[in-house]
Amino acid sequence: RDTSVSLSPPPAIRVRPLTSTETRRGDRRVVHSLGDGTVHVSAARHDATFGFSAVFDAGASQEAVFEGSGMRQLVELALDGFSCTVFAFGQTGSGKTYTLMGPLAQSETPPAAPGLLGLMQRSFACLLEQSRSRGSDLALSASYLEIYNEQVRDLLSPGPPCTLPLRWSKTRGFYVENQLSVDFESLEAIADLLLQALDLPPAGSQRRRTSAHALNRHSSRSHALLTIHVRSRASITLPTRVPQPSACPSKQGTLCFVDLAGSERVKETGSSGELSVEANNINRSLLALGHCISLLAKPRGKRTHIPYRDSKLTRLLARSLGGSGITLMVACISPSSHCLSETLSTLHYASRARRVTTRP
Ligand code: ADP
Ligand code: MG
Repeated sequence: RDTSVSLSPPPAIRVRPLTSTETRRGDRRVVHSLGDGTVHVSAARHDATFGFSAVFDAGASQEAVFEGSGMRQLVELALDGFSCTVFAFGQTGSGKTYTLMGPLAQSETPPAAPGLLGLMQRSFACLLEQSRSRGSDLALSASYLEIYNEQVRDLLSPGPPCTLPLRWSKTRGFYVENQLSVDFESLEAIADLLLQALDLPPAGSQRRRTSAHALNRHSSRSHALLTIHVRSRASITLPTRVPQPSACPSKQGTLCFVDLAGSERVKETGSSGELSVEANNINRSLLALGHCISLLAKPRGKRTHIPYRDSKLTRLLARSLGGSGITLMVACISPSSHCLSETLSTLHYASRARRVTTRP
């Protein structure tokens, strides 16, 4: 009997609206969703329909994505001590960062309207609500890493980014040595932590004009992993006649948000020199991730060795992908005719990911 449980919600698809640039250029909309969980891609030589259980079209609000994707359940599972991961993937400009963080770097006058906040901030709010109702029984801390050019860097360390070693041990699996972890107790604290890590001025201060640029350039060139550690004491109530244990067993869950760099076609973007090294590293790790996912999607009996060691990204995601984790994937796509082939490849990727099961 296959004991794998599918606690992981199925992949969600998010189609962003056409951007003003795309509209001005006269791009056609080639992606349609009928509200029945299907995504239709129709263009001159392509006509394909994909079925998913959660599809969010251009009109869907950030709140609808949070509530309808299974994100809220993921937060609750992290509180119960599970390792949970949400990752956004799709080509550059498809809406990954928007889905996770909202228009963080776009609004000239921070903070962004509450309705536009992304999955991250909504999850933080959920966690902090729980933390308030449970009092000192719940402690939250954050670590924030990026993988840039196959190097793991700590985004929370002050000063220039420092590279950290990625190690493996029998008990811990793959882990990053010496990564910083910062406690937080309020929404403001974690929001400021993010802004500082991304080199954006803290909320309330004058926004630099370059920040939108900086964030975009930065975030599409590296994979960013924010991990929230949730430590809680199990709230078991024993009958009063039974001797109470001096220390309650504790639960330790994690909630990890992964903003993957977009796949780039080097030829098309005209990247050269340093940029093409970056693009090749991004493509290599996305390819490794795709490879692991298609192997994991095979029935357990037929699985071969999963090559997590092929990239830093797959090493760091090993537990969430195939092991004891619970994972939500959000595939982001653009509706534009210009993005057709990337959109099809993202949808195929998400279809494969649907068959992956883990043993949380
Ligand atoms: P990525 O992180 O995948 O490279 P972004 O999240 O930066 O893409 O999105 C690209 C552009 O599209 C941004 O200007 C963003 O504000 C806009 N955008 C993305 N998704 C949406 C959405 N659902 N609604 C409105 N604008 C969006
Ligand atoms: Mg981005």
